[in-house]
Amino acid sequence: MTIRRIDLRGASSGGAPVDYRAAVPRAEFDVEAAAHVVRPILDDIRERGVEAILELSARFDKVELTDIRVPASASASALEQLDPAVRAGLEESIARLRATCANELESDAVTDLAPGARVVHRKVPVGRVGLYVPGGLAPLVSSVLMNVIPAQVAGVRSIALASPPQADWGGLPHPTILAACALLGVDEVYAVGGAQAIAMFAYGVGPCERVDLVTGPGNIYVVTAKRLLKGQVGIDSEAGPTEIAILADETADPAYVAADLISQAEHDPLAASVLVTDSETLADDVEAELDKQVAATKHVERIRTALAGSQSGIVLVDDLEQGLAVVNAYAAEHLEIQTRDAHEWAARVTNAGAVFIGPFAPVSLGDYAAGSNHVLPTGGCACHSSGLSVRAFTKSMHVIDYSREGLEGVRDHVVTLAEAEDLPGHGAAVRVRFDR
Ligand code: NAD
Repeated sequence: MTIRRIDLRGASSGGAPVDYRAAVPRAEFDVEAAAHVVRPILDDIRERGVEAILELSARFDKVELTDIRVPASASASALEQLDPAVRAGLEESIARLRATCANELESDAVTDLAPGARVVHRKVPVGRVGLYVPGGLAPLVSSVLMNVIPAQVAGVRSIALASPPQADWGGLPHPTILAACALLGVDEVYAVGGAQAIAMFAYGVGPCERVDLVTGPGNIYVVTAKRLLKGQVGIDSEAGPTEIAILADETADPAYVAADLISQAEHDPLAASVLVTDSETLADDVEAELDKQVAATKHVERIRTALAGSQSGIVLVDDLEQGLAVVNAYAAEHLEIQTRDAHEWAARVTNAGAVFIGPFAPVSLGDYAAGSNHVLPTGGCACHSSGLSVRAFTKSMHVIDYSREGLEGVRDHVVTLAEAEDLPGHGAAVRVRFDR
C-alpha cells in the first residue's frame, strides 16, 4: 500500500518556528476553479428556477424528473419498508444525539448592571433552515440525523431538506434517507443535489421558500455554492471532503490505527488520512496493516486513491510534544488520540472538529452513534469554526432594558463619549430625556 511518509524529526531543533500546517498538505480542493462551474449553475437557477434544476438533475444525476418536491407518501412508505435493524440503529443514534443536543441548549443570560439597568442576551432559533444531505458517492443517512436533530432541538420552526435524486430509485433520494426523514417528522424534502440544492435554498425556488440558513456537508460543488452564496444566506462551516488525523505512540494498536485511516478514506478519493507518530515501529506496522486490510475492503479503489493522495501520509515526529504541535496546526476534522495518557494529550488539543480519545472511540463511532455531531469543519477551518450543534441553529440578540434611573446612572458617560466621537446628536438623544 502506497502511503507517503513525511519526516519532521529534527525540524524544530534549529529553534526557528516551523510551519507545520504547510508540512502536511491538503487535498487539491480548488474552490476557485469549481466557481467557474458553480456560478453559471446559480445564475441559471436564479433566472429559470425549477426548470433549470430539472435540467441540471438530468445532466448531473441522470434522472428525468417533473417535480423537485418529494411526496410525503414516498418517505412514509420508505419508513414502512426500512430494515428493522437499520431502524433500530437510527433510533439509537437519534436518542443519543438528542440527549447531547438537549444538554447544549443555552438559557438567556441576564445581567443586572445597576438598579434599572439590565441587559439580556436572548437566544432565538433561526426561523427557516435548508439542510443538505449528500448522496453522490454514498447515501449519507446519518447526515439526516446530524442536520435535523440539532435544528429541531434548537426550536427551528421550518425545516427543508435536500438530497440528490438517485437514478436507481426512480429519481427520489435514497429510500433510507427518506425513511430517516419520516422517522424525524421532516416532511419538506426535495430531490435536488449539489450546488442546485444550495441555490434552491438561498433563492427560494418553486415550492421551496427561501431559507435563512443552509447547513450540511457535501462535495466541492456544494462547498463552493455555500461559499458563493454566503451573505445572501447563512451557512455553517465548510464541511468538505473528510479528514482523519491520528496522534499515536508505540502503545497504539496498528490494526486499529489502520482500520480508522481506511474508514475515512472510504468516504472519498479526496479524503485525507494522516497518522502522526513518534514511533517508527508503529509507522511500519500500520503500513503492513494497511496492505492487509485495504485489500479486503469493498471500495478498494477509492480507498487506495485517498491513501496514496498527497493529502494523506504518515508523519514522523521526535516526540508527542512535536506531534501535538503538528495536529494543532493541521486542525483536522477528526482527531484521534491513541497514546499513553490520552486524556492529558486530548486536553491540550486546541484545533480539531472533534476529538476521539483512546482505542475505543474510533471516528466511525462518531459518524453514526456516539451522540456527537459528524458535520464538522474541514480544510483547516477547525482553527476558527465549529461543527454543527444546537448553537449553529440559534442566534442571539442583546435586549437592553433600562429605566429612567438606569439611564441616569450612565447619562454623563454617554454624552461625553458621544462628544469624543463628534456625534453630538447621540448625546442630545440622552439629554432630552432629562431636560424636560
Ligand atoms: P454530494 O451530495 O455532496 O454531491 C453530489 C452532487 O454533486 C450531485 O447530485 C450533482 O448535482 C453534483 N455534481 C456531480 N458532478 C458534478 C459536476 N461535474 N458539476 C457540477 N455538479 C456536479 O455527494 P458526494 O459527491 O458523495 O460528496 C459528499 C462529500 O461530503 C464527501 O466529500 C464527504 O467526504 C463529505 N462529507 C463531509 C462531512 C463533514 O462533516 N465534513 C460529513 C459527511 C460527508
